[in-house]
Amino acid sequence: MDAITNLQAQHRQAVTTAGDEALPCKPGQPSRSLKQVADDILSGQQIRGQAALAAVKTAEPQTISVPVPAVKVDLYGAISVVPEGQQVQEGVYKNMDGHRYEDGRYAAFVQEISSFISTERQYSDPVRTFAYGTDASFYRLNPKLVVKIHNEDEVRTILPIAKKHGVPVTFRAAGTSLSGQALTDSVLLKLSHTGKNFSNYQVHGDGSQITVQPGLIAGEVNRILAAHQRKHKLPVQYKIGPDPSSIDSCMIGGVVANNSSGMCCGVSQNTYHTLKDMRIVLVDGTVLDTADPASCAAFLNSHRGLVDGVVALAARVQADKELTALIRRKFAIKCTTGYSLNALVDFPVDSPIEIIKHLMIGSEGTLGFVSQATYNTVPEWPHKASAFIVFPDVRAACRASAVLRNETAVDAVELFDRASLRECEADDAMTSLVPDIKGADPMAAGLLIECRGADAAALQM
Ligand SMILES: Cc1cc2nc3c(=O)[nH]c(=O)nc-3n(C[C@H](O)[C@H](O)[C@H](O)COP(=O)(O)OP(=O)(O)OC[C@H]3O[C@@H](n4cnc5c(N)ncnc54)[C@H](O)[C@@H]3O)c2cc1C
Repeated sequence: MDAITNLQAQHRQAVTTAGDEALPCKPGQPSRSLKQVADDILSGQQIRGQAALAAVKTAEPQTISVPVPAVKVDLYGAISVVPEGQQVQEGVYKNMDGHRYEDGRYAAFVQEISSFISTERQYSDPVRTFAYGTDASFYRLNPKLVVKIHNEDEVRTILPIAKKHGVPVTFRAAGTSLSGQALTDSVLLKLSHTGKNFSNYQVHGDGSQITVQPGLIAGEVNRILAAHQRKHKLPVQYKIGPDPSSIDSCMIGGVVANNSSGMCCGVSQNTYHTLKDMRIVLVDGTVLDTADPASCAAFLNSHRGLVDGVVALAARVQADKELTALIRRKFAIKCTTGYSLNALVDFPVDSPIEIIKHLMIGSEGTLGFVSQATYNTVPEWPHKASAFIVFPDVRAACRASAVLRNETAVDAVELFDRASLRECEADDAMTSLVPDIKGADPMAAGLLIECRGADAAALQM
């Protein structure tokens, strides 16, 4: 297809419609064009799309009645559900999620941390605690106190103090989480935004590894790697595997602790699969540096109970073949919710440091603080080509994506539902690139497909 060949020659990414050129395919598989794949999937689907539309048109509107729970609103506007049967007494709080009260523990905590954190770095006023009461999600929990932290030593000192006083703490990097991960109604430990803190890095060798601190913006890490390649005139440019759409806002701490993914990294290039080493601060203030054999040896000795517990858990899970298979199956698909239980089956029980390191990834800061991460980076190939195919309905698009995954070696496939296609219909630039969007079937869905390679020839393989 001329359009894609031109795009390859220009070394840039673009969107085009399906054509006749062969898709990259797995060894032993017959090579097929985008048009063939699209045609196979489309055959017979138009009828189903029309039938579905007719069904939607004739269906009677239905009213579903759902009981709405009682809610209460606190001083700062935070809304919480009142459990059934519970009487709400204004001003009375229990020390549990959503019900923090000051029984002296917060005052004691503040007094202790104030010996090494100035009051300018502690916010407890209604305005700033309200501002930190949300992240990119639709949840709200206003912290009692926000503490801007500057370095690993401060975290090492704060965590045991918090433990001693029974004060829950939550870390916050850039606060772009979509499910309330960076919220608390207790103490929020914010990685300072001065641009200087937690921002050190070291590029190793040709850039195939990089050590970064948690306050670095993920996109900045990629720019550091690109500059390294240019400066040393290296043959390959590298980038970190995770590529969340928020890459120019989110920070490494959040990327590791959320095990963030993205359009292209899928489940194979996320932090879980590309992290080499990590520095962890535990709640007792201990630092484990998995890259340092002395640190690992000291940890295995000082935290024998914890290590034995992790090993016993992994042994139990691995002895259960059904559970092991279930975990493997679940983690082969995109899943960023909950702990990385795959760490319990992916490593032998005599590798407790590997298990602990991987359990930290995606733990949303509940197991400890990540003060440094070393990534095995992935190549940022200079040659890319994209295609956009419109299908009559989502089912057809999903079947096509399964074919693309199983029978070809394309790098990324992203689904666009009808609502997102509709957004593009009025955009002349988009419709001139993808004319099929205009007047598409009312149930239509699209697939954006991307191929990448070291050179133009790689895109034809
Ligand atoms: C427009 C938009 C697009 C997005 N696209 C994607 C996407 O494509 N893929 C995806 O996976 N996510 C996506 N996200 C969600 C989010 O941006 C990512 O998960 C991101 O990596 C979170 O990083 P953060 O710096 O904002 O972390 P935060 O939200 O500040 O924190 C995330 C979690 O990490 C913990 N944490 C932070 N720092 C540390 C640390 N040093 N040690 C231990 N725990 C720590 C926090 O306590 C919290 O639990 C998107 C969000 C937005 C708003």
